[in-house]
Amino acid sequence: MENKKELRTWLDDLQLDHPLVIAGPCSAETEEQVLKIAHDLKDTDVSYYRAGIWKPRTRPGNFEGVGALGLKWLQKVKKETGLKTATEVANRAHVELALEHDIDLLWIGARSTVSPFIVQEIADALKGTDKVVLVKNPVNPDLPLWLGAIERLASADIKKLGVIHRGFSTYEKTKYRNNPEWQLAIELQTKFPDLPLINDPSHITGKRDMIFDVSQTALDLNFDGLMIETHFDPDNAWSDAAQQVTPSSLVQIMKDLRIRKETD
Ligand code: PEP
Ligand code: MN
Repeated sequence: MENKKELRTWLDDLQLDHPLVIAGPCSAETEEQVLKIAHDLKDTDVSYYRAGIWKPRTRPGNFEGVGALGLKWLQKVKKETGLKTATEVANRAHVELALEHDIDLLWIGARSTVSPFIVQEIADALKGTDKVVLVKNPVNPDLPLWLGAIERLASADIKKLGVIHRGFSTYEKTKYRNNPEWQLAIELQTKFPDLPLINDPSHITGKRDMIFDVSQTALDLNFDGLMIETHFDPDNAWSDAAQQVTPSSLVQIMKDLRIRKETD
């Protein structure tokens, strides 16, 4: 990848004195829910407000997202709170709708990163965009697949890139929902040192009481930021109920984390 340094300008331009925080619900459920959480996060360290509107559920029969309607709610979030907005895109139509509604950050989910066809379609639809694009690791512990997705996006002249480490599926049961396999994130960091690396402790742990520890490990390993699912009523969330934290817990987590400074 040429001009790798350019890839992190979007993060450097935020001039944060703390790790980047992307937070918000797993899924947009109702307009009231989306706006309430956004207002609760307004005066915190959160820079980007996330909400999934097209939900890639592993098995059918669960809530699959509110769809394009949610984009209007995210626009309202930006207008009312000033928070930048973020959502997952999984095909060309999603990208076109998200761009039409001026979503600031688009991410590719773990179930899409596994498919070079889908990644290429998204890269083509985003060609030359000035939006931030983040690539989650693929579901399975396959580093070349993750690198390949990044290369496809970089080749489409997308300049504001980054990655999200959300852990990997394993057949064996572990204490994690998705095993972190930290060594894969570290190897990626070694290959692309200028690519912002965000940790997603929510999908790694699957449990809110483990989020602090995984976040601390990520910061100790020099990650640039965290994506943490946040909901005012986590137990009644329509997806990923066990792992979401309340806005006040998020603020407490951020306060308690030991932040590694360049000079450490
Ligand atoms: C999500 O961020 O809500 C999500 C579906 O994540 P992942 O693609 O990591 O499973
Ligand atoms: Mn989720």
